[in-house]
Order: sequence, then structure tokens, then C-alpha cells
Amino acid sequence: NLTRSSVIIVGAGISGITAGKILAENGVNDIIILEAADKIGGRLMKEQFGGVTVELGAGWIAGVGGDQINPVWELAKQTGLQTYFSDYSHARFNIYDHNGKIFPSGIADETYKKAVDEAMQELKRQEANEGSENLISSEELSLSTEKTPIELAIDFILHDFEMAEVEPISTYVDFGEMEFLVADERGYDHLLYKMAESFLYTSEGEIFDNRLKLNKVVREVQHSRNGVLVTTEEGSLYEANYLILSTSIGVLQSDLISFKPSLPRWKTEAFGNIDIMVYTKIFLKFPYKFWPCGPNKEFFIYAHERRGYFTFWQHMENAYPGSNLLVVTLTNEESKRIEAQSDEETLREAMEVLRNMFGPDIPNATDIIVPRWWNNRFQCGSYSNYPIYVNRQLVHDIKAPVGRVFFTGEHTSEKFNGYVHGGYLSGIDTSKALLEEMRKEKERRSESQGFL
Ligand code: FAD
Repeated sequence: NLTRSSVIIVGAGISGITAGKILAENGVNDIIILEAADKIGGRLMKEQFGGVTVELGAGWIAGVGGDQINPVWELAKQTGLQTYFSDYSHARFNIYDHNGKIFPSGIADETYKKAVDEAMQELKRQEANEGSENLISSEELSLSTEKTPIELAIDFILHDFEMAEVEPISTYVDFGEMEFLVADERGYDHLLYKMAESFLYTSEGEIFDNRLKLNKVVREVQHSRNGVLVTTEEGSLYEANYLILSTSIGVLQSDLISFKPSLPRWKTEAFGNIDIMVYTKIFLKFPYKFWPCGPNKEFFIYAHERRGYFTFWQHMENAYPGSNLLVVTLTNEESKRIEAQSDEETLREAMEVLRNMFGPDIPNATDIIVPRWWNNRFQCGSYSNYPIYVNRQLVHDIKAPVGRVFFTGEHTSEKFNGYVHGGYLSGIDTSKALLEEMRKEKERRSESQGFL
């Protein structure tokens, strides 16, 4: 069973859906979208939990309020997505020690300023050594010196959340420094369903278009001068003139998809040069709330002797009043560690930390969700993390097409990798590049026919 189309898009996250929309707007309707999961959205992933919709993937629209408008903010406004302003800057004044005492604000501020200064010096050092091999990362450097729990906690929030304080990040420079949390029962992925409505057959928020194929795991891509042939896990075959591949950098580094012929070395080396960040939001449901909810209390921090150990907490009362939910964010090695253990064990650890902060009498959580982005073979991590000094060749190589295979996704966005708007803008870029290539091919064809 062979299905033919003009273009195959692999992946129905924001970059794949955006690419499909732009192609359709330019008259290319003969497309097939192959998605491994049982729904569209990719890393826009909602789940019903504790009576509300929580976002296991992207939660914020980052970069709002600047001179230029973040296109995802614009989409959110157009579709009436519910969001609310989020301010992390107070988090450092709510740092708890293991006896439940909050560190005095003077100490927290001083420690924070010291950490920012150190990070800036480190950045200058790296700038001076740019291009030289074997640079130690700032995370490794911070681990190599003895730090107190509060220093470790601040180091974690600075490096894993607030690097914008230290280095210019295009998202905040271009689009503004505000961040808005999506708190909409329809989910962040509502943006994608709205986009899909413009080019796929939909009814009452569901997609009924047989150009979108769910549960299709692409395992092999054969490509030649003449076209591409894609094989899925259950043996379906799809043939097309062109392919747009939107899978994450983690998937590209894994062996999920094999290419025949193999991708050139410059391409696979470029994939290998991008780091993958693992970012895990663990949601906990309680019978009632026992944490402070006043102004500037939304985010709080636990200072522990292990860096990143259940450090960064948020209550969901601003987003969903009365929901009695807490979220704790873990990253990288801690994320991988808890992915490998049972949810009961993670719940036990989280409760011990909460009892250290709020006393022995607090109630047990009644439910927990632990997303596993690292072990999800369709993701293999949460998002790409470019080296601080990126050389232009790497950026070029990451997104450059190989013959008829085009690449898209947040990891191909030079300025906005790691963000939803990076995924969105990459979908536009890649589909435009493909349309240009299709135009040229048509021109070459009609020229050669002219000769005959
Ligand atoms: P994806 O959404 O991953 O789409 C790729 C699709 O390809 C997926 O649907 C996948 O299932 C599919 N696929 C993979 N392999 C195959 C295969 N072999 N065959 C067929 N299909 C396949 N960004 C923000 O702006 N703000 C945030 O607050 C934020 N927080 C985040 C928190 C977490 C936990 C995570 C994981 C991400 C977060 N991000 C955030 C990043 C943001 O979610 C992504 O940058 C963006 O959604 C990526 O879109 P994409 O289209 O590039 O990739």
C-alpha cells in the first residue's frame, strides 16, 4: 500500500502544522502529515489532572511586551487563549531551608547578585576563549567549587531559568521581558487546532482529514534525486517529491529514523553538537492548600545540599484558584534520575521536601504526574540548547536541506530555539524555502521541455 503526495511532513507539532498551513496557503494542498503520537501538538501537551488542564510541555508564552510582537502571543490573542502574567523575580525572596525558615531577603539578594557577577565573569572568560576546545561549562564550574545550599539553589534558578539576567537572549531582547502562563481549559495546543482549521477538514475541534495520519511512526527515509520514500513502523509506504522533517534534535540524534543513503557527515555532526535540555514539571494534587498564596508568593525555592533537588516550586492558585495543585520543576540529571524510578518514590521524595519546608502536619498529595520527556522515544528530551557561542556554520548545517529532505523544528531556529515561537517561525522558514525550491524545479522542468 503506497500513498503518493507532493510533500510529506513528519511530525504534527507547531512547526509541522505551521509548515502545512503555509504550503496550503501557497496552493500546495497535496500533502501528508505523519505523526507518531495519537494526537497533534508534540511538545504542546495538555493533560487533565486534579480537575483542571495542566501543560506537561510548554507552559509559557515567553517574550511579551517589547517593540516587536511575539507571533505566538499574537496567535494567543486571536484565538482568545487564557493567559496570565507570571513573575519569577520574587522567587528568590521565598527560599526555604530544610527547617522551613525563609532566608532573609538581604542574604538572598546578596547571594543572587554574587551569582550574577560570577556568571558574567564566566561568560567573559568563555568569550575570550571562544573557539578553543574543552571549555568547562558554567554548570561544571559551579559544581567544582563548594557551595552552600542557598548558593546552589540560586545557581540553579539562575542557570536553568533566568540566564536572561546574564546574557542577552533574543526572545526577551526582541519580544520583551514578560512571560505569560497559559491557563486555558482547552490547552496550549488549542492554537494548533485553530491553525489546522484553516487547511484541514475539522469539525467541533476535531480533525477529520485523511491527509493527517496519526500513530504513524516513521522509521526509514529513502531519498534520491527523484523523490523520497518513507516507511513507517507498521510497514506503510509514503512516496513524495519532498519531505519536511520536524522531529526534535533528540530524535535526530537517536536511531529512530534511518536514512538511505545515510545523511552526510556534516549533517550528523551538526546534530551531535547541539545539547538537549531535559525539563520536567511534576504536578501534585492536595486535598487542601497549606502554602502561602499572597502577593509575590507564587514561586518558592527549596535550598538543599544537592543542586536541583526539588528546588523550584510554583503554586497553581493564580492560574486555577481552588485547584490545590503544586508544580515542581526538575532538570537534566535530576529529571533523568526521577524518570528511572517509580512515581511513588518521586512522590515520597517530594513530600519529604515539602515537610521540611512546611512542617510534618501537611497532608499527603493524592495524585502525581511525572512526565518522561527523556524516555519518550518521539522526543528524547525537552528542547535544544545551543552552545553560548554558536558558529554560523553550525546554524547553517542544522537547518540546511539534504537533497529533497528539508528540516524544521525549534532546534533549527537560530534566534528562538527552545521556544514555541521558535517552532512556529521555523515552520514558516522551512516551508518558504521548500516553496522556493519547488518553484525552481518547475522552472528547470519547463526550460528542459523548451529544449525538446
Ligand atoms: P514537536 O512539538 O516536538 O513536534 C515534533 C513532532 O514529531 C512530535 O509531535 C512527535 O511526536 C513527532 N515525531 C517524532 N518522531 C517521529 C517519527 N519517527 N515519526 C512521526 N512523527 C514523529 N517553549 C516555550 O516557548 N515556553 C515554555 O514555557 C516552554 N516550556 C517547555 C517545557 C517542556 C517540558 C518542554 C518539553 C518544552 C517546552 N518548551 C517551551 C519548548 C516548546 O514546547 C518547543 O520548542 C516546541 O513546542 C517545539 O515544537 P516543534 O514543532 O519543533 O517540535
